[in-house]
Amino acid sequence: MYCKNCGNELNENAVACMSCGFAKGDGSKFCANCGKEVNPGAAICTNCGAAVTAKAAAGGEQKSKLVAVLLAFFLGSIGIHDFYLGYTKYGIIKIVLTVCTGVGGGIWALIDFIRLLTGSLDKDANGVELKKEF
Ligand SMILES: [Zn+2]
Ligand SMILES: [Zn+2]
Repeated sequence: MYCKNCGNELNENAVACMSCGFAKGDGSKFCANCGKEVNPGAAICTNCGAAVTAKAAAGGEQKSKLVAVLLAFFLGSIGIHDFYLGYTKYGIIKIVLTVCTGVGGGIWALIDFIRLLTGSLDKDANGVELKKEF
């Protein structure tokens, strides 16, 4: 395990790099697997093939925050934004709530809508950060 910001070798139990202060797993300049410098913005390490970015590590495309916000606003009561972001379970619960109570799913969707706008909900179910268009 190496610091992704400065390439310093890290103890397995360390939570942050003692040399630069970055949290373990933060940064994108060095490979966490082999400690070799990687090209800025590279998805994988050209030396060992390990994933460098969260996007590559999760193996997923970044979902659009704008699409998620619009889906939450217009179709949120039946959880379409949850299905879009991969939170299938929450989507199904919203459908059940909406069918059973009429409004339950809609209130929850409104909360999701606000959380998306304020940035407190900024990852999909795979932990991949949402693309910010606004
Ligand atoms: Zn460091
Ligand atoms: Zn590597």
